[in-house]
Amino acid sequence: MHEMSLAEGVLQIIEDHAAKAGFARVKTVWLEIGALSGVETEAMRFCFDAVTHGSVADGAALEIVTTPGTGWCMRCGVSVPMTERYDPCPRCGGYQLQVQGGTEMRIKELEVE
Ligand SMILES: [Zn+2]
Repeated sequence: MHEMSLAEGVLQIIEDHAAKAGFARVKTVWLEIGALSGVETEAMRFCFDAVTHGSVADGAALEIVTTPGTGWCMRCGVSVPMTERYDPCPRCGGYQLQVQGGTEMRIKELEVE
């Protein structure tokens, strides 16, 4: 489950930020997860709760914002929406799609106190 190491990475960022900004508690974490990132949201929630236990983000609410995937169809010559990495082009049904967006995961916002 690679979500565990991703969750650890998220916590690391939060803790670095806490040290710099000087806050003691995180109430809410908004996490953007790209539709094509391969990150399972439910697994992410579980791992986040596990790794944040006893940290500044202990008990913090995790708000997951899914960002849509987009790809470039070489046949159509346009950007098209993608929900799965190996989906065909919704316009021409071809598989010559290059993934453009929706592959990343990042912290969008933190609510602290
Ligand atoms: Zn196409």
